[in-house]
Amino acid sequence: MADLPIIVAGAGPTGLMCALALGRQGIPVVVLESEAALAHDLRAGTFHPPTLEMMAPYGITARMHETGLKVRYWQIRNRQGDLVAQFDLDRIADVTPYPYRLHLEQHRLTPIQLDILRRETNADVRFGHRVAGFTQDADRVRVEVATGSTTEVVEAAWLIGADGGRSTVRKTLDIEFEGFTWPEQFLVASTHYEFAQHGFAMNSYISDPVHWAAVFKMPHTGPGGIWRAACPADPSLPDEALLGDDYIERTMQNIVPRAERYAIVYRSIYRVHQRVAKDFRAGRVLIAGDAAHLNNPMGGFGLNSGIHDAINVADKLGKVWRREAGEEVLDLYVRQRRAATIAQVQAMSIRNKRLLEERNPAVQHKQLEELIATAADADRARKYLLESSMIAGLARANEVQ
Ligand SMILES: Cc1cc2nc3c(=O)[nH]c(=O)nc-3n(C[C@H](O)[C@H](O)[C@H](O)COP(=O)(O)OP(=O)(O)OC[C@H]3O[C@@H](n4cnc5c(N)ncnc54)[C@H](O)[C@@H]3O)c2cc1C
Repeated sequence: MADLPIIVAGAGPTGLMCALALGRQGIPVVVLESEAALAHDLRAGTFHPPTLEMMAPYGITARMHETGLKVRYWQIRNRQGDLVAQFDLDRIADVTPYPYRLHLEQHRLTPIQLDILRRETNADVRFGHRVAGFTQDADRVRVEVATGSTTEVVEAAWLIGADGGRSTVRKTLDIEFEGFTWPEQFLVASTHYEFAQHGFAMNSYISDPVHWAAVFKMPHTGPGGIWRAACPADPSLPDEALLGDDYIERTMQNIVPRAERYAIVYRSIYRVHQRVAKDFRAGRVLIAGDAAHLNNPMGGFGLNSGIHDAINVADKLGKVWRREAGEEVLDLYVRQRRAATIAQVQAMSIRNKRLLEERNPAVQHKQLEELIATAADADRARKYLLESSMIAGLARANEVQ
């Protein structure tokens, strides 16, 4: 039994972090990834201070800084082009060595994680290996692994499902994924047009009942970087129309109107959910990251919380593996990370989205006035930044027993 590895399903940022944090403890790990290579898509790109602190001991954070952009300020703007409020992360420089958001594409993080995992641990990473199901008993999990047309069974001491929002592991456990799906999809488009010339901070949110948007500067391939906008997509139109040049052009013109057309480098569309699994554990099987919880991207919490799950579960599973702790410590993982997800990530991401899209002008005015007052007051701004940077919520969740 002691020789059986821990299997991690999924080589996304959560799965790779689980594997690295377990592998560094000398625990045998097998990573099973259904795709032939790491994913390359336009998803996460904002990293908060606690996440950078957690990844630093593994050498990941230093590598991310080689290309990542340090974003000290973030703004709320209106559609008329005015700055409403600006927050300065330097106000929390006394509590973190990383008083900024680091912007780096998710597809630049995972190769760093994989490289360190391969160089510094004995982890066995198998691409093109899909977890198709499993059975478990008191001392092992038998994982059914599909490769092409064949299926083999690989035995593990424990299985971590980090296999994303449609998680086969969560579904096999029949764990309810409680929550809801937003009616509108999110359109993500990137352009080299320089929004900074209009006063935009590298992370800016535009408040508007219909044409709200989140705008980020990302490193892309070099010094100039690229601007990425995430906006709600008209639910009445088919995906082909939403991804067409004309619809994207209208969307970009709503952010900054200009005479020329926008040159669009990347475009994609996503359905967005707010869901939390009813449990993150059943016997010898645990779930983490998007497999366990999904949220809208306003605030940039999804990937960050997947890394927080990975560090938490690897620490506790390591102790169980070495027989320093009983299995019940894994239920503490569930309590702490469900608390962080529900009280912090779900609540803040829903609040952020509603703040941007508020349709009642009186309510919107009141909310924005409140935000202006918060940004202007040193104590209130600091408290707000400790929450929006995930520092305060994480500390509260880690106190859960
Ligand atoms: C538009 C958008 C913007 C976002 N922006 C941010 C942001 O700024 N900050 C932030 O923190 N988060 C953000 N997110 C969320 C973030 O992208 C996700 O939370 C993150 O990808 C979760 O990582 P994960 O490893 O848990 O899951 P995934 O990245 O989905 O990885 C799961 C992996 O498992 C593999 N897999 C699936 N099924 C199986 C199987 N049966 N067997 C083996 N392998 C399998 C998949 O191929 C994949 O490689 C954003 C999301 C969207 C949609």
